[in-house]
Amino acid sequence: MARFGMVIDTRKCVGCMDCVVACKTENGVPDGHCRDWISQRLQGEMPDLRLTITSERCNHCDSPPCVTCCPTGASHVQDFGKVVLVDHDKCIGCKACLAACPYGARFIHPDGYADKCTFCMHRVERGLAPACVDVCPTRCMHFGDLDDPESEVSRLIATRRHFVLKPDAGTRPRIFYLE
Ligand code: SF4
Ligand code: SF4
Ligand code: SF4
Repeated sequence: MARFGMVIDTRKCVGCMDCVVACKTENGVPDGHCRDWISQRLQGEMPDLRLTITSERCNHCDSPPCVTCCPTGASHVQDFGKVVLVDHDKCIGCKACLAACPYGARFIHPDGYADKCTFCMHRVERGLAPACVDVCPTRCMHFGDLDDPESEVSRLIATRRHFVLKPDAGTRPRIFYLE
């Protein structure tokens, strides 16, 4: 059984926001909300400063507090790919998951349910890559099965220095950034 994740090469990302636009278009994300976004961090000390750009979204955490806090079971981990999803019909819009997520990955959709990145399961189930991965002009994003040692994502993590966002939060995120 697959366990999907992403590997994003920060040395190739230019912060063009094509991933953000592609996600909004592909998923009909309502005005004023985004399922993915670009962050910039200044790292190092003068004069060795480095700007790190990260394309961010739900990390589909292995220990997702958004799932354990949900009172209705709407937030869940689906079997296929161990992807964290929201069942719109079960969600009562209580925002407990928005408060629990350390990454600010969720928002309340105007229709009243919690929404966020789905890893584009509607595309992956048809053998396609997520829209943001597909559209990236520098090919800096990779998607695949972290439990398959032969997958591209597993090989990149095994051979390149990488980091995850907020490792101290204990969520075990599944988006890895190559340094
Ligand atoms: Fe849940 Fe936030 Fe982790 Fe996504 S990033 S699985 S919304 S805790
Ligand atoms: Fe669960 Fe919906 Fe409440 Fe989030 S907003 S905790 S998905 S019922
Ligand atoms: Fe948006 Fe799909 Fe990329 Fe998630 S995987 S950020 S839903 S385009």
